[in-house]
Amino acid sequence: MIKVGIPKETYPGEKRVALIPANIPQFKKAGAEVIVQSGAGEEAGYPDSEYVKNGAEIVKTREEVFAKADVILQVRALGANPEEGLKDIPLMRERQILIGFMEPFFAKNMIEEVAKKGVISFALELLPRTSRAQSMDVLSSMATISGYKAVILAASYLPKMFPMLTTAAGTILPANIFVIGAGVAGLQAIASAKRLGAVVRAYDIRPATKQEVESLGAKFVELGLESEEAQDQRGYAKDMGEEFYRRQREMLTKVIAESDVVISTAAVLGKRAPILITEEMVKGMRPGSVIVDIAAERGGNCELTKPGEVVEKYGVTIIGPVNIPSSVPYHASQMYSKNITNFCMLFIKNGEININLNDDILSSTLLTKDGSLVNSIFN
Ligand code: NAD
Repeated sequence: MIKVGIPKETYPGEKRVALIPANIPQFKKAGAEVIVQSGAGEEAGYPDSEYVKNGAEIVKTREEVFAKADVILQVRALGANPEEGLKDIPLMRERQILIGFMEPFFAKNMIEEVAKKGVISFALELLPRTSRAQSMDVLSSMATISGYKAVILAASYLPKMFPMLTTAAGTILPANIFVIGAGVAGLQAIASAKRLGAVVRAYDIRPATKQEVESLGAKFVELGLESEEAQDQRGYAKDMGEEFYRRQREMLTKVIAESDVVISTAAVLGKRAPILITEEMVKGMRPGSVIVDIAAERGGNCELTKPGEVVEKYGVTIIGPVNIPSSVPYHASQMYSKNITNFCMLFIKNGEININLNDDILSSTLLTKDGSLVNSIFN
C-alpha cells in the first residue's frame, strides 16, 4: 500500500500543516494510507484525534514518517526551510517523492543534495497558472490569505477607521487605500479594504488588471506606463529595469502622498521585488499613514522595509510581514491541503504511483529525478 507521510513543519514560527484530516478520504480512495507525525496539525487547529478519526496513522517521530512514507507532503521544504530542512536530507531515500514549497530559485545547492539522494521532488511554486492547474495553485491560495491579512494589519495600525460614518458626533471620512500590484494578493486586498468601507485605488503594470480592479469597485490609477510588454507568456510581470522603476516612482509619488494606507504586493518571479517607494516618498506621506509591504520576503517594495519588523519613520508605520499565511494557519492549511491533494491525485491512482511527465503540471514542477536537477529553471 502506498504511504503518504505528513511530518510536522520545522521552519521557525511555521504553524501550517500540509494535509488536514478532511482530505484523507481522497487518498484512501486512490489507494494510499496517510501517516502523520504526532502534533503536525496541532498549531493549525487540527489535533491528532481528528486525523485518527479520518483514518490516518499517527507516529511519534519525524524519522518514522520519512522511513515509512513513499510520498512526503510538506508546506516548507528545502529552500523554503533552509536551516531546519537540512536535517531532513539524511532521512530521505531513493525514489521517495517530496512535494511542497521549495524556493527553487534561491536554493540550488540544497536541491542538488536532494537530487544526489535520488529523491523525486516537486516544487509547487512552479505550477503553471493554467485553468487545469487552478485547483492545485498553492501560490494563489496563500496570496489570497496574504491580501486579506495585509488589510487587517493596516487597519489595526492606522489611527483612523476605514469606513465613512455619519454620526451625531460628525462625519468620519473614509480611509484612502492604495494597492500596488493587482495580482492575486492585491485583488484580495482591494476586496477586503472595500468590505471595510475604504476608498480604494490600485495600480499594476499589467494592463489586463485594470478591468479586474474596476470590477471590485476600486479605481485604477493610470500612469501611462502599463503595457502588454510588461508581462511574460505565463502572465508574470517582467523585470522592467531601473530606468522604468525610476519613472514609475516619480509618477506614484503623488498618489502615495494622498493615501492613508499603501499595500504593496509587486513581485517579479525569481527576482528581488522592485523598489517602488523610496525614503523620500515615505517622507511625503502624512504622519500616521501605514505601509504594509507584502513583498517584504522578496526584499520589499519600500526602501525602508525591514522584513519581519514594524518600522516607524517620519511618523509613517512600515510593516514588513513575513510568512503571512502562517498567521492564519487554519484556513491556510485547509486551502494548501486541498491544493496538494489535487496535485497528488495526478499521480496516485488505484494504489499505484505513476508519474507521467507528458503532463505539463508534473513536468513543470519536477525539480529532481534519477539523481539530477531536471527543471529548466536550472539551465
Ligand atoms: P505576483 O505575486 O508575481 O506579482 C504581484 C503583482 O505585482 C502582479 O500582478 C504583477 O503584475 C505586479 N507587479 C510586478 N511589478 C510591478 C510594478 N513594477 N508595478 C506594479 N505592479 C507590479 O503575481 P500573481 O498574483 O502570482 O499573478 C501572476 C500572474 O498569474 C497574473 O497574470 C495572474 O493573473 C496569473 N494567475 C493565473 C491563474 C490561473 O489562471 N490559474 C491563477 C493565479 C494567477
